[in-house]
Amino acid sequence: MLTLDTATDPAGPRTPVDGEPCVLLKLGEVVLKGRNRELFEKRLARNVQSAVRPIARVDVIRRHGVMIVRTKDATVDTVDALTERIGDVMGIVWAHRAWRVDKDADSVERAALELMAGRSGTFAVRARRRDKRFPMTSTELERRVGSAIVAKHGLTVRLKNPDHTLSIEVDRDEVFVFSGGLAGQGGLPVGMSGRGLVLMSGGIDSPVAAYRMMRRGLHLDYLHFSGMPFTGPESIYKAYALVRELDKFQGGSRLFVVPFGKAQQAIKSSGADRLSVIAQRRLMLRTGEVLARRLGGGTLITGDALGQVSSQTLTNLTALDDAVELPVLRPLIGMDKVEIMDQARRIRTLTISELPDEDCCTLLAPRRAETRAKIDDLHRIEKRLDVEELAEQLAGSVQEHRPVYGDASA
Ligand code: ATP
Ligand code: MG
Repeated sequence: MLTLDTATDPAGPRTPVDGEPCVLLKLGEVVLKGRNRELFEKRLARNVQSAVRPIARVDVIRRHGVMIVRTKDATVDTVDALTERIGDVMGIVWAHRAWRVDKDADSVERAALELMAGRSGTFAVRARRRDKRFPMTSTELERRVGSAIVAKHGLTVRLKNPDHTLSIEVDRDEVFVFSGGLAGQGGLPVGMSGRGLVLMSGGIDSPVAAYRMMRRGLHLDYLHFSGMPFTGPESIYKAYALVRELDKFQGGSRLFVVPFGKAQQAIKSSGADRLSVIAQRRLMLRTGEVLARRLGGGTLITGDALGQVSSQTLTNLTALDDAVELPVLRPLIGMDKVEIMDQARRIRTLTISELPDEDCCTLLAPRRAETRAKIDDLHRIEKRLDVEELAEQLAGSVQEHRPVYGDASA
């Protein structure tokens, strides 16, 4: 991930002439949305506003393929904080801290010179015009600003792989000048694809699965099964910390916790034996389905990856899907553990997932788990248990939590 271009320019330009610092956003797939585009952009603008609310009140201005985030009396520090926070909002490809300057070549040149002050090495100027009425072409603007930078700061022009890139974007009412930027998450704005419920263990995979579905526009709630009263509460703390971290991508996350120990015991004494892990997973899905319907969710999400553990063979996944009507989305299905861990590191959930806890699943693990569960056998076991009633009871026993990103108090 790229960071704000401060490594080469630690202080950054604090006070450029006649310019206002703002955040310029480049949108991803949103721009492909044809007639729905307006809806997508409005949703994205709202998501940006609520993500930055603890930092500042902002105006989000929609322009062709970009958005501009402005705040009153903007300082560089505020705008940098906004830029960093907005980098987590789904649907954005780049967030640039940009300077808004008057729409004339002199103002652009002055801001460009300030931005490149104190830098050395090679550079390139890249100009584009969203407003073609501007009296200079992009190339003319690049040449003019480029030669001014060479003359004043002694940098060398290099169009391929330069040390610094200075960007100029001519817009309807103003010109944006910037250098560097923060790579965003891409994807679609959260909320555009509906709601889903994530089955959230304390492990590495389910948080990554959640991230990938938020990135496709789902707004998520979370369901965690703890082994309580037969285990300690550690897995709940982990689930809480994970959801709090993931909340940076959407806001308003809810975590529902079910004490699952007694139900697990019931499965064990029903004689499920080698099928007990699959029977337990099916009960988790059923409970999730009851809860999801209550919350208006249209899908369940798990961190399953094909073949990763014995419960994740194709036959077993089919036996899991059989338990519920809602679609079960498994965004990690084709990923290997190394890829999943890389992603977990990038979204900063890996260290939380690696904390020790007592996973409820180990309570029940038979000596040899079934890799080819027969659905008829499962139905027979479940009949003895009256699973539908059990799932209703479990969904009724949930405790609700509201982990908020940035809230260190809990
Ligand atoms: P994870 O790292 O997400 O725990 P895993 O590789 O350990 O996954 P399993 O333990 O087989 O795999 O779990 C598969 C999926 O089942 C999880 O990704 C999660 O969606 C769901 N799941 C497992 N345990 C729990 C739990 N205690 N509470 C909620 N969901 C769970
Ligand atoms: Mg697990």
